[in-house]
Amino acid sequence: MNLPQFEFIQPRSVEETCDLLKKHGEEATLLAGGTALIVYLRYRLKKPKVVIGLKGLTGLNYLSQQKEGLTIGSMVTLETLERSPMIFHGYPPLNSAIQQIAVPPVRNQATLGGNICLENRCIFYNQSEFWRKTQGPCLRLGGGVCYAVEKGKRCQAVYSGDLAPLLIALNAKVKILSAQRERTLPLADFFTGRGEKPNILNQDELLTEIQIPLTEPGVGYAYEKLRVREGMEFPMAGVAVRIKRGENGTIEQIKIVLGAVGTAPIEVTKASDLLVGQKFDDKILEEFSNQAMEAARPVGNQIMNSEYRRKMVGVLTKRALRRAWAMTEKRESS
Ligand SMILES: Cc1cc2nc3c(=O)[nH]c(=O)nc-3n(C[C@H](O)[C@H](O)[C@H](O)COP(=O)(O)OP(=O)(O)OC[C@H]3O[C@@H](n4cnc5c(N)ncnc54)[C@H](O)[C@@H]3O)c2cc1C
Repeated sequence: MNLPQFEFIQPRSVEETCDLLKKHGEEATLLAGGTALIVYLRYRLKKPKVVIGLKGLTGLNYLSQQKEGLTIGSMVTLETLERSPMIFHGYPPLNSAIQQIAVPPVRNQATLGGNICLENRCIFYNQSEFWRKTQGPCLRLGGGVCYAVEKGKRCQAVYSGDLAPLLIALNAKVKILSAQRERTLPLADFFTGRGEKPNILNQDELLTEIQIPLTEPGVGYAYEKLRVREGMEFPMAGVAVRIKRGENGTIEQIKIVLGAVGTAPIEVTKASDLLVGQKFDDKILEEFSNQAMEAARPVGNQIMNSEYRRKMVGVLTKRALRRAWAMTEKRESS
């Protein structure tokens, strides 16, 4: 499939990029590593007149550990993160989550910013223009119905990025820039929950930085992913957890975030409220697992039906919690 015609501009600075975004508005789209965008263009899911390449923005290619935590420029590639000793030793579950994304050649190009800004996916939308013509446009492409579910009245395309759930569990923030202003907000607030417009970025805005606060002593975290094959696969479900061990082996804090089972990452809110102060045991694992299954909104497809995916959310929640809890034990004794 050929690429459509567009003008390609490669700015040299963040300021120039913001000016271009302001000038071209709706007609422009950003290209970071291109591993997702080039597919959108080939499938004619996006038809921009102008593509703004971000590769020249060397100022967004940094990774730095400070007192408050880790700051990562949005143009840092997943491969750089995976190979960084800072991440490998300081944030091992993040390293492991990155390794589960696609395959090494994709991670070599793919950026963290692009991963967070991924468009939502669905079995109908993520197909060629030719294939889509068999049914006519869906809600997201200007039609009146969502084909992902029967007689869907709203777009049910799923947010399928692997890293956002774990970063939300870690209370990460994102920095967003436009020609007019800069804003920093919790990553959890970055997502809209609308399949057709998954994040809050305005047309003239650029994601520039991801901030991960330092994890306190006694904290453990983990990410578990369900996929069809061990390589090259978006998640069919993902579960990220962050847990803090209190005195006498009780749970002091807990956060569970689900990925790929809804139009945005889903925070399992009840988990943190009800079960704090209790002992970490099989009974509590069962309760967390049930809450996660209840919160999940999986959409079935030809590969895995929604009930199976929901059940797997429960299984992954238990696995992730066990791994995260084991990490709190290691950290206490080290
Ligand atoms: C075969 C294959 C397998 C994959 N498997 C996975 C997987 O398992 N898990 C997963 O999470 N992803 C997967 N992906 C998707 C993708 O490769 C990654 O998510 C990647 O990190 C996207 O980054 P990128 O730099 O290539 O983004 P791009 O393709 O350049 O951009 C993606 C989107 O983000 C926007 N964007 C990019 N950077 C910015 C920015 N700084 N500010 C605002 N908007 C921006 C673009 O306009 C575009 O809409 C896969 C892709 C392929 C091709």
